[in-house]
Amino acid sequence: MVEKFWTPYHLIRKEISLFCDALRDFINREVLPHEEEMDDYWDWTERKEHTFVEEIFRKLWIDLGLQKAFVPPQYGGIGDWSMVENAAVIIEVTRGDVGLGMTGFISQWAVASIMIPTPNDLVMKYVAERLLKNEPYIICNAITEPHGGGAIEDVRLQGAQIRTTAYLDGDEWVINGHKLWPSAFREADAYLVVCRIEGEKFPNNIAQIFVPADTPGITTSKPYRKMGCSIDTNGDIWFDNVRVPKEYRLHEGIDEVKSLIAKETIGRCVNCAFAVGVLRRMYEVLKSYVDKREIAGRPMKEHGLIAYELGQVLTDMQVAEYTTWYAFERLDHPETYGSLWDYGQFSMAGLCQNIVTERAEQAISRAINLMGSHGYAKEGKMEKLLRDVKVTQIVVGGPLLRLLEAVRHYFGTETI
Ligand SMILES: Cc1cc2nc3c(=O)[nH]c(=O)nc-3n(C[C@H](O)[C@H](O)[C@H](O)COP(=O)(O)OP(=O)(O)OC[C@H]3O[C@@H](n4cnc5c(N)ncnc54)[C@H](O)[C@@H]3O)c2cc1C
Repeated sequence: MVEKFWTPYHLIRKEISLFCDALRDFINREVLPHEEEMDDYWDWTERKEHTFVEEIFRKLWIDLGLQKAFVPPQYGGIGDWSMVENAAVIIEVTRGDVGLGMTGFISQWAVASIMIPTPNDLVMKYVAERLLKNEPYIICNAITEPHGGGAIEDVRLQGAQIRTTAYLDGDEWVINGHKLWPSAFREADAYLVVCRIEGEKFPNNIAQIFVPADTPGITTSKPYRKMGCSIDTNGDIWFDNVRVPKEYRLHEGIDEVKSLIAKETIGRCVNCAFAVGVLRRMYEVLKSYVDKREIAGRPMKEHGLIAYELGQVLTDMQVAEYTTWYAFERLDHPETYGSLWDYGQFSMAGLCQNIVTERAEQAISRAINLMGSHGYAKEGKMEKLLRDVKVTQIVVGGPLLRLLEAVRHYFGTETI
């Protein structure tokens, strides 16, 4: 039996709960048996043969219907989930593998940018048509640049550090620049590129531009090798005089800034859900270990000190889960807590990501201590989780910037 821990079922409709059950079965059947292989499959987009990773994504997005849920109902999809329901779904997938979660929901993150604060109808129709087909369609979010992800995401810098530029030439944007790290950078069918508009002042200088991946002028590197999160591919993307219609800019002026802040708010909460997914897997691995292991002739978990430490693991887990569910529930209630681009929501999401991901790392580290060298060995299935969970701290601006943003909001600190 899989423990469901602190999921707020009173906030989740029956059909979504059943969908979560189906996802859990899928993860048990199709993903966890590949757990070890997925840990070192960073080059799967390089391989000529059809890989099991492609098969898993196809089943997840198409056969189980996840991709249709990325499309809002007014564009023909079934994506009417609340943020809390969304978190429940993300947690189930990430329990299988954090990279599966990162790439799995990447197009949904892009759709949020297209829809918020008001939909870009033309781009949304284009994207919806493809997401609703029976083929995987991946939209990569190209934000980070070589000189820093934090500097791009830091809204106080008003776009000054964005070095990927765009200018209008007649009816077309011409994009030049270098992005790196974006999830699914290689297998993407399209990119959302954060650019600085040449010659414009804040807020008109910031743009998110939709770019189909087959547009001439785009090249990519090989995927990077990372400490974890292997099947989520990351690398360089170069844009060399890439031309797209001017309507492919998502929003204008302050709306573009709102969209970008909302994107970060959502991304930060989603990383909380990723970490909770990893924690649920940690619990299963730890439980099956302490159920069997004996120390000094007695079941391990019957030793007082061990029971205490298991309690500490549970405490970390509960803090992580409660913080996550609270963060998502706030996003569901903008009438009470403010819009997704409101600085209060934004800094709350950043603090939540820090709390949840630090607790997750701590819990897994405690679990490794409890398992001794078995926890440190690949066969123990725990060390992968420690490496995997680390990424949930790093992405979307890094922990220090998120802390700083909260201090700016609550103490009025005027740092750069
Ligand atoms: C698996 C994976 C998936 C990713 N997916 C994507 C993606 O889909 N799209 C994308 O664009 N990028 C993606 N990234 C990149 C990631 O979002 C960035 O690495 C992250 O934002 C941090 O940027 P950086 O590495 O350049 O570090 P830096 O920006 O150099 O930051 C380093 C440290 O300094 C801190 N810092 C930053 N600014 C300040 C400041 N003003 N004051 C004090 N401290 C500060 C940061 O918080 C961090 O702790 C991904 C990375 C990985 C590993």
